[in-house]
Amino acid sequence: MNLTNFEHIQNYIGGEFKDPISKQYIDNINPATGSIFGQIPNSNSEDVADAVKAAQNAFPSWSVSTPETRFKILNRIAELIDENLDALALAETTDNGKTLTLSTRVDIPRASSNFRFFATGIMHFSTESHVMEDKAINYTMRQPVGIVGCISPWNLPLYLFTWKIAPALAAGNCVIAKPSEVTPLTSFLLAKICKEAGLPDGVLNIIHGDGPNCGSAIVAHPQIKAISFTGSTRAGQHIASVAAPMFKKLSLELGGKNPNIIFADCDWEKMMKTTVQSSFANQGQICLCGSRIIVEKSIYERFKTEFIEQVKKLTVGDPIEMSSKQGAVVSKVHFEKILNCIELAKQEGGKILLGGNSVKVEGRCINGYFVEPTIIEGLSSNCRTNMEEIFGPVVTLQTFETEEEALALANCSDYGLASTVWTQNISKANRVAMQINAGIVWINCWLLRDLRTPFGGVKNSGVGREGGWDALRFFTEPKNVCVEI
Ligand code: NAD
Repeated sequence: MNLTNFEHIQNYIGGEFKDPISKQYIDNINPATGSIFGQIPNSNSEDVADAVKAAQNAFPSWSVSTPETRFKILNRIAELIDENLDALALAETTDNGKTLTLSTRVDIPRASSNFRFFATGIMHFSTESHVMEDKAINYTMRQPVGIVGCISPWNLPLYLFTWKIAPALAAGNCVIAKPSEVTPLTSFLLAKICKEAGLPDGVLNIIHGDGPNCGSAIVAHPQIKAISFTGSTRAGQHIASVAAPMFKKLSLELGGKNPNIIFADCDWEKMMKTTVQSSFANQGQICLCGSRIIVEKSIYERFKTEFIEQVKKLTVGDPIEMSSKQGAVVSKVHFEKILNCIELAKQEGGKILLGGNSVKVEGRCINGYFVEPTIIEGLSSNCRTNMEEIFGPVVTLQTFETEEEALALANCSDYGLASTVWTQNISKANRVAMQINAGIVWINCWLLRDLRTPFGGVKNSGVGREGGWDALRFFTEPKNVCVEI
């Protein structure tokens, strides 16, 4: 399979690779070099309508295919992702700017895990029965929703794209999927893999384009009955306003401003190593990264000194070099946004303890978009820097003296996606976890993911849960059948 042609990306509709009907394209830019390396379709409602027709044709047979048939095809997709690990990882890094180490070790392996997980999951998916003693038996059917839309962001491109598509397909739906226009490459390559794996034509349709023209056409199409969206809170709000009056099923995984609560009695070395990762992995562009580090006052000075020392070791450089610990941020627009956020932090009275500037990386990356890992202290808990999502390599430090104070700082955000708690006191850890307003709490760890667990946020971080049975339930409609006996 040739997975090296990056230049001319096409839509994948009804099993065919197609140019957009409008012949409009968007430049695809490598953020590590700042150079254009290809073009992607800027599709619109006409392409979406074409894809919906293909999905309608495919649905009658796919929706009644046996779980074993779906398992075999999805499992084959997982195998082909594994077999093409190197090509996919290089594509992800070229598109996104993340280090090749991260693409190779995390992003692409997780994409195949997603397919493998839901391929096997559908073989074990069962439904309930409710018996009314001597009157009746109820049983619940779980039927595919129909044609569903999956829209994903740029930060973990193939990882999050497959996290939606795999359960949707496993449950027997036909899918219209749109990756981020900023990172379209691996989803284009995935289309080739799906074709080779024998996924029937029209079951998965991948359309490329931006939010206003293409994403919004998916959300508004009346035949698309459910929308699974991961992205910004702003776009999520807009999507909800369009989809809710049409009574579409909605799963919204949105932004975050996650707190890391560090108590004095933590396992110091483990906490330090993990907090460096949870702050700056993928240049801070993971929705689960902790961006507000909340430290018990008695250990604050020690924490600050050592944290700065450790973060200094995160070499910013060409993402394809194994020595680079930090790659480029995803785009020029995002690069400028991050630098503006750092300026705002200064205006709000923040003291830059480390970083705060862009980085010029010599050689082929001289025009790339690189930002120093940045640590800021001295800001109030409710300033914009501490309230608004930056989604870059920027963290703030705050202190607390009591458990109540730590919780108040953690919970004063409009977001509620994830958090970490660092303490060796098991009762305190559980007490705090119980009171944090977030969908996910990691105690003495971070990003340890069991794909069976519910994944999602509260407040402005979204609605609904992905993962495990939650995902298969989202992509199916329950129907109760009552039989009088
Ligand atoms: P974004 O909202 O700009 O775009 C996400 C996707 O939605 C893209 O494919 C985009 O083209 C599309 N889109 C944009 N506007 C749309 C509209 N009006 N209608 C339909 N589709 C539209 O987000 P982004 O900048 O790509 O990603 C970063 C954001 O994603 C951050 O806020 C981050 O926290 C969030 N995120 C959340 C999670 C999570 O699981 N909660 C995971 C990863 C990223």
